[in-house]
Amino acid sequence: MKAAVLETPRHVSVVEVPDPDAGDDVLLRMRAVGLCGSDLHTWAGHHPFRKPPVVLGHEGAGEVVSSGDPRFRAGDRVAVMPALSCWECTRCEAGNPHLCRHKRVPGLGWAGMLSEYFVAPARVLVPLHDDIGFDEGAMIEPVAVGWRATSGVRAGDAVAVLGGGAIGSLAAAVSRHRGARMVMVSDVKQHNREFLASQGVKLVVDPIASDLVSVGVEASGGDGFDVVVVASGHPSCLAEALALCRPRGQVLLLPMFGGALSVDLNPVVLKEVTVQGSTIYTPADFAAAARLVNTRALDVRPFISAVVPLGQVPEVLLAIDAGADHLKTQIDPTR
Ligand SMILES: [Zn+2]
Ligand SMILES: [Zn+2]
Repeated sequence: MKAAVLETPRHVSVVEVPDPDAGDDVLLRMRAVGLCGSDLHTWAGHHPFRKPPVVLGHEGAGEVVSSGDPRFRAGDRVAVMPALSCWECTRCEAGNPHLCRHKRVPGLGWAGMLSEYFVAPARVLVPLHDDIGFDEGAMIEPVAVGWRATSGVRAGDAVAVLGGGAIGSLAAAVSRHRGARMVMVSDVKQHNREFLASQGVKLVVDPIASDLVSVGVEASGGDGFDVVVVASGHPSCLAEALALCRPRGQVLLLPMFGGALSVDLNPVVLKEVTVQGSTIYTPADFAAAARLVNTRALDVRPFISAVVPLGQVPEVLLAIDAGADHLKTQIDPTR
């Protein structure tokens, strides 16, 4: 089969690799695979644990070719939760399988998805409704990231999201679904700001052209936001988030930061702010995201900027790295 293999940093080739052996698991023909910020980090050689040579891709949906598990049959349409936990370690037993000590993910102990075929155990597959496209199915993974990141949002909250790329935009959409009374999103890219405005986000701020903290605090009613989601790794975001957060509010950190940050922590003490990290999702978060996508309670179709053939992966990664306008680019490995 063909696969997009990252051979050395910044060099991807679409090459023939051996067909995978499904054993007792499920063999999928991949139909849509999203590219994400962490694929870009891996491509650039900065990812903390995904290192070349590796097949990229972890946001995927496909069609069952054959199944060693009676829960699935040939022709079933599914999305993949790309995290395999051991269910035996102390972290799994404590109800945090996403923090499993022995977790395997695509690119670490498990193949990546940017290939014609992919093998997964039945327990991480989620059926897609008949009228839901594979492209929508491949969005369940980033929606699950946004769902977990906004788990602190309550009805009536004011929410700020710093960074309006795919994950930030989805976190904003999910916050509104959770009943936020107002959502502000900041992003330096005009393309992303226009997209957010088109999606009904009322307050979209360019943090270069305006003073994000004063605009935000005023818009929140003067006391700051109940929840601030940091979805950009830009070094200024952490200080801005602490300034935008109300007393006893929550700052949620999503990105992989490029290095150590220096930040004034006095606002954390003086306002009793909670700073919380968020990494991937639990199976319950993934199931919630699958419900949102399968019912179109959250319509993810506008978030998909382009779907391109597998052979274009090398150019597409270069273009995204060069700053091309896009929100979510997906690959169709059958093309
Ligand atoms: Zn991702
Ligand atoms: Zn475990």
